[in-house]
Amino acid sequence: MPRLRPRPAARAALAALLPLALLGATAPQAAAAWPEPVPVVSRVETTDPVVFVTIDDGWFHDPAAARLLLDRRVPASLFLLPGAYAYDSGYFHRLLDQGPARVENHTVGHPDLTALDADGQRAEVCGARDAHLAEFGDGPRLLRPPYGAYDAATRTTARACGAKAVVTWTHDLTTWGGWTPPAPELKAGDIVLLHFNETLEQDLERVLALADAAGLRPAPLREYVPE
Ligand SMILES: [Zn+2]
Repeated sequence: MPRLRPRPAARAALAALLPLALLGATAPQAAAAWPEPVPVVSRVETTDPVVFVTIDDGWFHDPAAARLLLDRRVPASLFLLPGAYAYDSGYFHRLLDQGPARVENHTVGHPDLTALDADGQRAEVCGARDAHLAEFGDGPRLLRPPYGAYDAATRTTARACGAKAVVTWTHDLTTWGGWTPPAPELKAGDIVLLHFNETLEQDLERVLALADAAGLRPAPLREYVPE
């Protein structure tokens, strides 16, 4: 049936389509590897006598905790949710303007990022970056994924949204429901996780005392994470 055989021109067109189809098949992998994934940091390798205080979410705005952060000049990393400063941004403006704290990225809506595709993760992470920038004029450089849950897409998304690391933690020393975790022996480079909850002032006092006892001082995490 010679008349059904593709003419040379049609064959050339088919051949031209084939590489496109192959490209289409490999594109998602290429997208996952670009931009270059950021490192995941749960503690910092350093010989400096330092610990890192990080405080998440931002829902409860205790004036006593803010006073302590300012009085003790704690260079805390604040992983804030835009919704938690929408109703009282002054609390955090004071911390950032009058002390050495910095605002970092904790997404917009606090999802488990591993349940989202790359586009969904990007909306959460770049969205929070844009909100912080608009409110505080300071773009976050560290991403703490909610629940500490991340995957390969989170590490490339972090880079695409201006972060240089995905940051988890060494010790969660938050008091929850009246239960305070046992005191660890803090070591140089440890990252301590706290939350803006009702017990932040006492949790902070305890962490600062533990740091003192170990001969460590709080240092700014952003400056200890390489570009
Ligand atoms: Zn959180």
